[in-house]
Amino acid sequence: MENPLTPEVLADPVALTRALVDIESVSLHEKAIADCVEEVLRGVPHLTTFRHGNTVMARTDLGRASRVVLAGHLDTVPLNNNFPSTMRGDLMYGCGTSDMKSGVAYALHLAVTLPDPRYDVTYFFYEAEEIESKYNGLFLVAEAHPEWLQADFAVLLEPTYGIVEAGCQGTMRSVVTTTGVRAHSARSWHGVNAIHGAGEVLRRLSAYEARRVTIDGCDYREGMNAVRISGGVAGNVVPDRCEIEVNYRFAPDRTPAEAEAHLREVFDGFELRVTDVAAGAAPGLEAAPAKEFLAAVGAAPIGKLGWTDVARFAAMGIPALNFGPGDPNLAHHPDEHVEIGKIRDGAATLHRWLAPA
Ligand SMILES: [Zn+2]
Repeated sequence: MENPLTPEVLADPVALTRALVDIESVSLHEKAIADCVEEVLRGVPHLTTFRHGNTVMARTDLGRASRVVLAGHLDTVPLNNNFPSTMRGDLMYGCGTSDMKSGVAYALHLAVTLPDPRYDVTYFFYEAEEIESKYNGLFLVAEAHPEWLQADFAVLLEPTYGIVEAGCQGTMRSVVTTTGVRAHSARSWHGVNAIHGAGEVLRRLSAYEARRVTIDGCDYREGMNAVRISGGVAGNVVPDRCEIEVNYRFAPDRTPAEAEAHLREVFDGFELRVTDVAAGAAPGLEAAPAKEFLAAVGAAPIGKLGWTDVARFAAMGIPALNFGPGDPNLAHHPDEHVEIGKIRDGAATLHRWLAPA
């Protein structure tokens, strides 16, 4: 295949977004797009380029006082009659237009066209963000080459509709179990019904008042919800076991241990086990490159409510935020699209921030 990422395409973030969208790259099938990106970067004299699996990293080494990361994932969710891209007026439709090839286009465009950025820059183009964490390119690099991720500040170019979304909430999944004693339902007084026992768990959840926390001017709104319930043996048996899966989304001022302690307090008296947890990330807007980034954007940041790869950087002590042109509400949507004007605005913002003083 001839590389569609020609110099003319690389010079224009809009054309580049479209070219990237038109290289199919559903998770675990990123080889073709990673090959194209790697070939481009290896041809750029001011960059040193590395590859790990289908994750490509390129960096400047100008001896600047600070290093920043610009990162985007190359993969998309499965196609849904939305490939290749189409244009309708000022909107570009197609799988990955919003999440997040328009963001990837920023990083690739700047990598190629900005030989002398104000900070040293590490550009990441990584695989498998949309699926299980064990395949995630940033996770794999953090395991194999943690030094590649060293930086003072990171921008993940995920869709935020041009707004700065800082930090992210943590998420904890747990299972609350109620137990009872089995009996024939015709003689139910011999048993104890575990599903009835779940009533108290659900009452505590519906009465629960979630916290709102403000950190560095960003508002985080917590939530605790039953997301699944299971129990029952047969149509004529008093059940002896009921499991309620509870998802707790917690603000980044709480560690996973504190989140678990809080869950145990809420469900005091019940058996509870934590099945999965991902720590949140504080917004970390105090670092100098972060402050300068916010000045370039010129609008107040908001707290990110979902979990994103921002937390991977936070776990390494690197403040990180999300900033991209796509509309997050359109991510994974069959009508996924991006506004051309948003692509151009965000590209100008990043250029203002990174261009030499
Ligand atoms: Zn994404």
